[in-house]
Amino acid sequence: MSAVFTSKKRVMLKLGGIVQGVGFRPFVYQKAVAFDLKGFVQNGADGITIEIEGESSKIERFLVELKTPPPLSRIDSLTSQEIELENTQEFSIRDSDEGMAKSMVSADISLCEACRKEMQDPKNRRYDYPFINCTDCGPRYSIIKDLPYDRAKTSMAPFSMCKACQKEYKDPRNRRYHAQPLSCFECGPKLSLLDIKGEILSSERSALDEVCDLIRSGETVAIKGVGGFHLVCDAGNEDAVRKLRENKNRPSKPLAVMFSSLKALKKEASITKQEEELILSRERPIVIVDKAKEAKLAPSIAPKIDRIGVFLPYTPLHEILLKKLGCALVATSANLSDEPIITDETELLQKLSHVVAAVLTYDREIVNACDDSVAMVAEQTLLLRMSRGYAPKSLPLKSPSAVKILALGANQKSTLALSFGDHLVLSPHIGDLVSLDAFEYFERTLETFKRFYGFSPDLIVCDKHPEYETTKWAKEQVKKTPSIGYLEVQHHYAHALACMAEYSLEEKVLAFCFDGTGLGEGENVLWGGEVLIADPLEYERIMHLKPFRLIGAGKAVKEPRRVALALLFECFSYEEIAKMDNATVKSFTAQELEVMHAIWKKGINAPLSSSVGRLFDAVVSLAGISQTSGYEGESGLLIECHAKGHQSNEGFTLEYGEKEIDYRQMVREILQIKDPKEVSSRFIQTLTEMVLSIAKKHPDLPVVLSGGVFQNRLLVTKLVSTLKKGGLRYYIQKESPVNDGGIALGQLYHALHRSKHNG
Ligand code: ZN
Ligand code: ZN
Ligand code: FE
Repeated sequence: MSAVFTSKKRVMLKLGGIVQGVGFRPFVYQKAVAFDLKGFVQNGADGITIEIEGESSKIERFLVELKTPPPLSRIDSLTSQEIELENTQEFSIRDSDEGMAKSMVSADISLCEACRKEMQDPKNRRYDYPFINCTDCGPRYSIIKDLPYDRAKTSMAPFSMCKACQKEYKDPRNRRYHAQPLSCFECGPKLSLLDIKGEILSSERSALDEVCDLIRSGETVAIKGVGGFHLVCDAGNEDAVRKLRENKNRPSKPLAVMFSSLKALKKEASITKQEEELILSRERPIVIVDKAKEAKLAPSIAPKIDRIGVFLPYTPLHEILLKKLGCALVATSANLSDEPIITDETELLQKLSHVVAAVLTYDREIVNACDDSVAMVAEQTLLLRMSRGYAPKSLPLKSPSAVKILALGANQKSTLALSFGDHLVLSPHIGDLVSLDAFEYFERTLETFKRFYGFSPDLIVCDKHPEYETTKWAKEQVKKTPSIGYLEVQHHYAHALACMAEYSLEEKVLAFCFDGTGLGEGENVLWGGEVLIADPLEYERIMHLKPFRLIGAGKAVKEPRRVALALLFECFSYEEIAKMDNATVKSFTAQELEVMHAIWKKGINAPLSSSVGRLFDAVVSLAGISQTSGYEGESGLLIECHAKGHQSNEGFTLEYGEKEIDYRQMVREILQIKDPKEVSSRFIQTLTEMVLSIAKKHPDLPVVLSGGVFQNRLLVTKLVSTLKKGGLRYYIQKESPVNDGGIALGQLYHALHRSKHNG
């Protein structure tokens, strides 16, 4: 009855999602005060609780405003309930209770516009301050030791706030209210420049000046970023770049370049509107784009290809440094090859003192390492490496799972995925697990996530490959704790599942899983050119590339000519091949050719593979473009680069058996063509036609494209336009990597469905 006479009411709201540590409570506070509402906002175990009382109409307006929350937050759930009036006199922010542990850890976020403005304002107390941040930006994951997210549990703990910072921290109207890493010149971390013995050369502003002088004079220096150190040098200085490559023993793999501004970047790279948006996005990934025609950067940054990885400064320190320098910087993760990114100066000097002239560092510890993310645009965004800015990433599950699941991914581009309750969490990129240090990093990352979320798995999911470190590790865990469940998921099915997970697909799909190498069903059979009909529970392999031998197994991956030769052996007699005037054949001596043939015939140390990734290698060799590979994925880039100058709508011939896709006629046709540009262009066209013709036979099934081969921009662009024209529904991952970085997500998706299915 009273509701008729008074328009006042009190409502309790519960919000779940990313609502803690992202400026959500001050946002609520400001809105409540603006509408003259009373009550409180409080962090809790499952998110945020708001109790609000006042005029109904104002509460309605408040609820509308809640729908546009602060930029880093995300509301996954909201319930509201009218409760009894309490006649509260003010609106307050209540302190966190300890239950906050379940809130999700945010990724590190690049410098925001408001902080950038302050930093550039000579009158501001944080003018040129290299560690400026606020509730909308700054380090998160990289500094957090434990939850709840509170300064005391971050590596900012040793820095006690000065009076001025404390005032900002405590004022709900201030944009730094409860910004945990908040600091200033007076109370925050300090810069110092170290020589290679670890002695301090200079500090603060003079450290910056000195490091700039070193870079200008052609030296390589290490600079501490947000999730690890970079090795940097002047990107316009060919000698400097070459020296860096030699010292780091990285012969040809492209290096990323950081520019001072978008304007400077555009002089060296030719970018589309979509690429520009990605480059400027809050996540600030390295974006792989076309080199500009009049590019002046050192040629050895990305030899032999017409692409370049570019990015803009994402921390205030980078911003200040690049402005001072006025030149672009090669910036590559500081590590030894196959090892994780280095996060502290002691290790850096132990391992890389032969590479650097000095180290620019600061005294805030990097708790969790995090590499730069890598992305590109091919009609849509493709995330090639999900790390800083994007990860850790938490997603809501449609329905909560009773089983706590840990998915370990593959062996390369390792990532972790875990699920508990109604949460799914993806770790940042860990890397290739091919060294002891890399595996330790894997274990450390896992421990971190277990600690964050009080997580311990009921079920561990891994690849089928018995030699993967992750598989071995999973088996060991289950042996130690037999109550933990164990589940293997076939590698290429997991690729398809990753895409299905991203789009929450539960129906049957037609999945094209084109990949480098991954173990198939059965021993010692490598897949990678598979067409599957799949749903979240099971799959059927309906077609695949006709298998060929990888002569010398692992060696074949590094030498495209071995794969090409195996294809020739499939098509011609040894005598015919020995007489051929072809780049592949000529790259072997007569004796080598004989040995290769013997290995191929016996099939020892020459496993069968149906990999499309390896088919790219073969084409690169047959066309005479390259006989050996400098880095993974090089063949794809070389084909794209060559195809550019040649627009062909004529594919090569593929023959379709009941299950096998036979490339032998294609190989014969390639041998007839002398122009590598034509071969490259027609090869991409061939793959496009292959997907289209198979997809047309299954018009009811949506097409899923997944696997490392779909990092090829030309192939994806062509495919997407072809599938669109054909009126076919298709899916490619945007938010998780199509390469092995997405495997953990796929494995997890399967396990979630399995455990639901099994009740
Ligand atoms: Zn900011
Ligand atoms: Zn301060
Ligand atoms: Fe793979």
